[in-house]
Amino acid sequence: MRKRFLSLLLTALTVVSLTACGAEKPAVKTVYAMDTVMTLTAYGKNAEEAVAAAEEELYRLDQLLDRFAENSELAAINANAGAPTGVSDELAELIALSRHISEKTLGAFDPTVAPVMDAWGFGGESPRVPTQPELEVLLSTIGAARIVISYEDRPRVTIGSAQALDLGGIAKGYAGGCVKEIFEKYGCTGVIDLGGDVMLAGKKTDGKDWRVAVKDPNDPSDFLGTLTLSDCAVVTSGIYERNFTEDGVLYHHIIDPATGRPAESGLVSATVVCADGAYADALSTAAFVLGARGAVSLCDRFGTETPLLELLLVTDDGRVLCTAGLDGIFEPNTESGYLYEQLS
Ligand code: ADP
Ligand code: MG
Repeated sequence: MRKRFLSLLLTALTVVSLTACGAEKPAVKTVYAMDTVMTLTAYGKNAEEAVAAAEEELYRLDQLLDRFAENSELAAINANAGAPTGVSDELAELIALSRHISEKTLGAFDPTVAPVMDAWGFGGESPRVPTQPELEVLLSTIGAARIVISYEDRPRVTIGSAQALDLGGIAKGYAGGCVKEIFEKYGCTGVIDLGGDVMLAGKKTDGKDWRVAVKDPNDPSDFLGTLTLSDCAVVTSGIYERNFTEDGVLYHHIIDPATGRPAESGLVSATVVCADGAYADALSTAAFVLGARGAVSLCDRFGTETPLLELLLVTDDGRVLCTAGLDGIFEPNTESGYLYEQLS
């Protein structure tokens, strides 16, 4: 059994003012899955059924997408690296999407970072700093272009013989999207908070948008501002989520696939807003790796395939950069001490 090396996760986003005064009471459920404490809040006649079904769905997806889970499809692909492994349509589709996003982010998002993650010991009980020669060997294994998906009687996935897949950069967002669909199927609105990955189903019961507070990555007891939104995904990737410190240096879990080291792009967090949970998650990881300049290009490149795409980036020199589409949606906290600039 894998030990959780950092059990407490500080969530980057919090939904404020869930209910209007005197409004109906929601069904609320806390779920522990994907190494994360998740909170599901549903409104509507079938809210209890919706959160119960959502909980089951999250356990199912945890089992499907966790490369450390015994007997998971993902573990089977990794154990069988170099040869084709039969998988479900659902997993094949998510791997295909991961490969596609990897290509279009020029490798900033890469689902084959697993061997490098393991060398750092992220997810294990004794994280460590690997040597440069060790990293160089592992870097030669990275590359989503080597993932082959074939469709015969059923989908089959083949990865390079020294490769392993890690869907940690997309799994929670994808799961959030699946839960949002469940809420919709049960005629519910609500908030799906998967610890930093937030999905907003519909609007509040008073017909207004939800308000999501974006925490200050340098001081999670404070916040940078609020986003007023509905029916979309909001996902943050940041250095303060999972990390360890050695000799006074903080090492975090978002790897730059070009160096094999924790990304140093001048950002401390990257928040992505868009219609689709899986895209929002993968693109927040990519934006974090690319840094402010590279991240802007994501909007042009992905804007047509995932509508409503907007970015909010926090730099390590105290600036908050927002794309123009967040005008009137993001309300800065003027007391936070940050400089607010438009990203273009
Ligand atoms: P969180 O785990 O908090 O949701 P992210 O969505 O940013 O954070 O994903 C980080 C996870 O994604 C890591 O734990 C690892 O499993 C995987 N990962 C790390 N670097 C990359 C990368 N460059 N591309 C794709 N996945 C990555
Ligand atoms: Mg991500």
